[in-house]
Amino acid sequence: MKKFTIFGNPISHSKSPLMHNTGFELIGFDGIYSKTHLENGETIKKAFIDGGFSGANITVPHKEYAYKFADKLDLFASKIGAVNTFILEHDGKIKGYNTDAPGFLKSIEKFTDVKSVLILGAGGTAKAIAIILKNENYNVGVLNRSQNNKDFFLSNQCDFYTWDTFKQNQEFDMIINSTSAGLVDISYPAPLDLLEPLVRNSKYAVDCIYGKMTPFLNLAKQEHKIYQDGKDMLLYQGVIAFELFTNSKLSEHNIQIMRQSLSYN
Ligand code: NDP
Repeated sequence: MKKFTIFGNPISHSKSPLMHNTGFELIGFDGIYSKTHLENGETIKKAFIDGGFSGANITVPHKEYAYKFADKLDLFASKIGAVNTFILEHDGKIKGYNTDAPGFLKSIEKFTDVKSVLILGAGGTAKAIAIILKNENYNVGVLNRSQNNKDFFLSNQCDFYTWDTFKQNQEFDMIINSTSAGLVDISYPAPLDLLEPLVRNSKYAVDCIYGKMTPFLNLAKQEHKIYQDGKDMLLYQGVIAFELFTNSKLSEHNIQIMRQSLSYN
């Protein structure tokens, strides 16, 4: 039986095992997918090898460590600098992929008339989303609490702001929360005096966090905006990872069953 896992900290909230184990059953693949709490990202390669895993997903806050410790990278992961999927190849090398970006793009394809987006946060997920949205010709701004990764975004033709440098009168069609604010706490991803007008003047609010109404999504609801959590992003990044794990193509029918396995309770 092939073993797979998801590395993260925190990890208890993760629905990935439910989705992947459902998928294995559906296609009759002899595999099992678990959760691994990983404290220190520097140890990710050792934890992967010692665990005897054939593949893994990597979530907050270890994606940049996964990038650093992969033996080789697919083109997109190397451009983003963050890895959310490890595949153990036949030669024993670990190849790193980023499936968050195409997964995110698929999750927002139903939202029309979007030309400009503002990404809150500047971590691995923000990088993935920014690169793929730039690829698709959106205007992309990034707003973060610190200057972390500023040069990455500027060199990829995104505007970059911190809470201090952001000009209040700017408007964007879509606001995306890619911070971990609201994941285990009840904080907003940016100060309310910046966030409220941004959400009010947008068309859509999208959170990468899934399975809960975050303060950010509650604000979007109050402002009568169309909003969605990160469930579809999770689904589609997982579908792409699953196809790499099992070297197979999922039918739309099986994707919808995997989607149901992500139900919140
Ligand atoms: P990282 O740790 O790489 O980045 C986190 C970002 O959030 C950083 O920019 C950080 O700022 C910012 N941040 C953290 N806490 C706060 C706070 N209290 N207020 C404001 N900003 C904050 O994480 P990832 O990019 O990997 O993941 C981000 C989120 O996206 C997580 O919640 C994760 O669960 C979710 N996610 C969901 C997926 C899905 O499939 N639905 C897939 C991937 C991620 P600074 O740079 O200053 O430290």
